[in-house]
Amino acid sequence: MPEFCDVALPVPLDMAFTYRIANGIQPAVGGRVLVPFRQRRMPGVVVELHDREPKVQAKNIISALDSSPVLDDQLLQLGRWIANYYLAPLGEVFRSMLPLAAEFKHSINYRITDEGRLALHQASMSGSSGRSRRTPEEQLAEFRVLDYLSERDMAREVSLRAAARASKTVLEGMVRKRWIAREDLSDARDGARMMKFAILKNVEGRLNANQRTLIDTLAAAGGRISVEALRGLAVPRTTLATLVKRGGVEITEEPAGFTLSGLKARPSQFDFQLNAAQQDALKNVQREIAASTFSGILLHGVTGSGKTAVYLAAMKSVLDAGQSAILLVPEIGLTPAVAANLHQVFGDEVAILHSALSAQERAEQWHRIKRGETRMVVGTRSAVFAPVSDLALIIVDEEQDSSYKQDETPRYHARDVAVMRAKMANAVVVLGSATPSLESYFNAKKNKYALLELPDRVEQRPLPEVEIVEMRQEFQETGHEQVISRKLAEEIRERIEQKEQVMVLLNRRGYSPVVLCRACGKTLECKNCAIALTHHKRTHRMECHYCGHIAPVPKACVHCGSEYVYFLGTGSEKLEELLHGMFPQARIGRLDRDTVRGREDFERALNALNEGELDLLVGTQMIAKGHDVHGVTLVGVVGADAALGFPDFRAAERTFQLLTQVAGRAGRGQKPGKVILQTYFPDHYAVQYAAQHDFAGFYDKELRFRSWMHYPPYSAIANVLVRSGKLDEALRWSGVLGQWFEKTRHEGVRVLGPAAAPILRLKKDYRYHFVLKSPSREKLNALLRAMVAHATQHKIPRTQVIVDVDAVWLM
Ligand SMILES: [Zn+2]
Ligand SMILES: [Zn+2]
Repeated sequence: MPEFCDVALPVPLDMAFTYRIANGIQPAVGGRVLVPFRQRRMPGVVVELHDREPKVQAKNIISALDSSPVLDDQLLQLGRWIANYYLAPLGEVFRSMLPLAAEFKHSINYRITDEGRLALHQASMSGSSGRSRRTPEEQLAEFRVLDYLSERDMAREVSLRAAARASKTVLEGMVRKRWIAREDLSDARDGARMMKFAILKNVEGRLNANQRTLIDTLAAAGGRISVEALRGLAVPRTTLATLVKRGGVEITEEPAGFTLSGLKARPSQFDFQLNAAQQDALKNVQREIAASTFSGILLHGVTGSGKTAVYLAAMKSVLDAGQSAILLVPEIGLTPAVAANLHQVFGDEVAILHSALSAQERAEQWHRIKRGETRMVVGTRSAVFAPVSDLALIIVDEEQDSSYKQDETPRYHARDVAVMRAKMANAVVVLGSATPSLESYFNAKKNKYALLELPDRVEQRPLPEVEIVEMRQEFQETGHEQVISRKLAEEIRERIEQKEQVMVLLNRRGYSPVVLCRACGKTLECKNCAIALTHHKRTHRMECHYCGHIAPVPKACVHCGSEYVYFLGTGSEKLEELLHGMFPQARIGRLDRDTVRGREDFERALNALNEGELDLLVGTQMIAKGHDVHGVTLVGVVGADAALGFPDFRAAERTFQLLTQVAGRAGRGQKPGKVILQTYFPDHYAVQYAAQHDFAGFYDKELRFRSWMHYPPYSAIANVLVRSGKLDEALRWSGVLGQWFEKTRHEGVRVLGPAAAPILRLKKDYRYHFVLKSPSREKLNALLRAMVAHATQHKIPRTQVIVDVDAVWLM
């Protein structure tokens, strides 16, 4: 065994830490170990075993947590790629890749120090430790703490405080005096549901009948079976023990597998009716899989063209060939109905990883996948790290969806990680969308990906007709600001009379987004963010949509005391109320983050629509996402173009995508659909091309702008955000970095900034940023790396300089 191991720890430091291997512990590369780090014990992943003596004395590792590596070579390599590409500490990357935190319990512990023993000695000699401003009660409490700790190695905080009747403040004071030391422990959880497994080893010598039965059963199960399952055999319990003693069988203990409650459905006969275009796409995907080399495919299918059927058919063929597949879906896409569908197709062979799983369930699913009990994995962003072996196919559904980008360290994009993982595994990656991102479509046009098109809706259903209503003109003709235009109102009335269904999109939740004082002109802002608070009428409060801060509804201006406060603008809550007033007989539902708390709420609203229990559904972009409701013949779009005013180069792309997606909800059943698109920007190309269902047209136009402005896909970009709770610190740090960028030679990288971030203050932090663009990823990466090193030299904490490579939001 080598003498040392390098361990990646989940701390914001770009380095691995060297520990000495001792006490017969046998760590493995890719396995987890428990190590002492500062005042704590921490689990980390072993990245290297070696014999190089470090300059400073290495501490001993405490224990190895896994008998076999939790990260195989490929996932280790993928983690390194992410750490390098997104400039994230490797240990933090591994933490994101391994959903195993539930296997640890965290506790705060204290032990007495030598200084503490001395103080205890003096106190017991003199009865007091003298010259102190502490009250006699505090001194007594300290004495009890020292006394209690002197009799044991260590005590948990809860027991210590109870036994010594000491407050947290007393303990903190004692830590500062170095009388006691605090240790935060992470230990493998004893309480986790563990399960014993029997593993077949070499069996030598003669076996009796019982032993033979047991060995045969084990062999038939592939050499590994739960001990519980063996108990079902008609052999005495001692048989297993005897075989273990003889070395023929080994027993291991692992976390129990996840049991799918009541979902034991047998895989049904696969009976998707694929049309010619779908079959063609499927054949293409299958051919690439059969080639067993990396290949990227962009599946561009209009809304309602049946992409999902192609995904499932391709996955089924992977399963039949004994290989593995991963399907990534956007955050909102994994409803219980979708899960039920997947179980119908794949039975117990599918693991579904969604946000409603507890940490414990997540860990159990992970082990199931790792053991190879399930080879089909469906999940949101982090499912891209599922520990499947023999990976043949990764599908990224709605690949343009921004929920694939993680908004904390490591800031990876699951689509791009999926492409890299497929490359490493010689697998096929399929990116699917009705509105592909500019980057992916560009790659397809450059022949980096094969482009497969599904140009028509299933059963030759037509795409909906789109009518644009100019809201400026509406204002001139009616003399006042309208939320619902006359045209939209008329069309809604018609549908309701004909017992057809309507969806209305307004991508802003709450009642009124702005509260304005007419006397002093100020708005009511969040105390943590430079963002106006939104009025929520039903809950009767003001809410910040960025940090969650809640304030009472003001009766007077908080700045000048004037009573002339006005509630301006319309959110989805107010829109629902307006529609109730206009169509009192209609049954109206609302779908936004205020009405949807979990996946079930989301599904319930959609079911109500599907079952015809609703005439009208109002909502934010949630209503636009990929679901299939057949009775909707009209979609109204209210204020979806507001984003066009945002200072973000992706604003047009996002607006085009949202308009196309929501329009795609209309006319998915027997009757053709119609879309009324209200806009203040009727001539904007994003609005025009969306109205014409012309993706290629939009793409060409937008690409020209991107090229002129040196934005992706022509340049790689990174957003560097400097933040601090103190304004002068944020300014000073961004000044330090700004000067460094100015003095440094960096050919081929444009640096814009420092500038105030579009949202200057967020969650109590002041924020300044730089935008870096370069046609060369290598140069951009090198410059960012040097910048991070410079920031560290100037003692700017790593957590306060956020590097976001391929940022999807510049806010
Ligand atoms: Zn005022
Ligand atoms: Zn806020």
